Amino acid sequence: MALQYQRTFINFEETTARQKQRSSSLSPAAGRNAEDACSEKYVDGLLHKTGENYEWPIDAQGNTSRGSLGHPEVCGRFCIRFFYRNCRQGENCEFCHLAHREPKVKMDKAQRQLFETMGEAEVLSLVLPHIERRCGRNGLNKQMLFVIHMLRQRLTSLPHPDDNHVLHARAVIPILRKFTVARLLELIRQSPAFPSGFKEDLKKLVDRSLGR
Ligand SMILES: [Zn+2]
Ligand SMILES: [Zn+2]
Repeated sequence: MALQYQRTFINFEETTARQKQRSSSLSPAAGRNAEDACSEKYVDGLLHKTGENYEWPIDAQGNTSRGSLGHPEVCGRFCIRFFYRNCRQGENCEFCHLAHREPKVKMDKAQRQLFETMGEAEVLSLVLPHIERRCGRNGLNKQMLFVIHMLRQRLTSLPHPDDNHVLHARAVIPILRKFTVARLLELIRQSPAFPSGFKEDLKKLVDRSLGR
């Protein structure tokens, strides 16, 4: 799968390079590299353009599905039907067809209850550092650039969270360190604190970033 990531990144770069050549309307900032490209306008513009134009390649080997894109860090849930050789969706399946060997870590009841009482800014303060750390460690910074940007922007727009609550949650839910990026994003979507419109936009952006 490492190879597939590489191809995906190369593809991303080629596409943005082609867009640069094609489009004179893109701001001169397009020449900057990804690290200092975090000026909000630039990313917003690029997000818009890139989202409209690029397609991620889907592995034609036959053993991966749409849901496998980003495996193992941001793929869909494991496809139990495929495991039993019973998945009729094939490449179009939204679940992952690759092996998931690590057991799924879960929050216990007390941890879930605490999580459900947390406000938006608290959830983001708790979860976002883990998402950024895992993306960095797994070479997903570029692929997930827009998703991270969207979450960071959301956090900045909210009133500052109660630091004590965040520290308390961090101590009570240390298990988050073991969650994949996909699971961390799922937590945000499960939190009652976020408006449904935001959750839908987040899901769309994740799907689009992964080419689903
Ligand atoms: Zn997977
Ligand atoms: Zn499947």
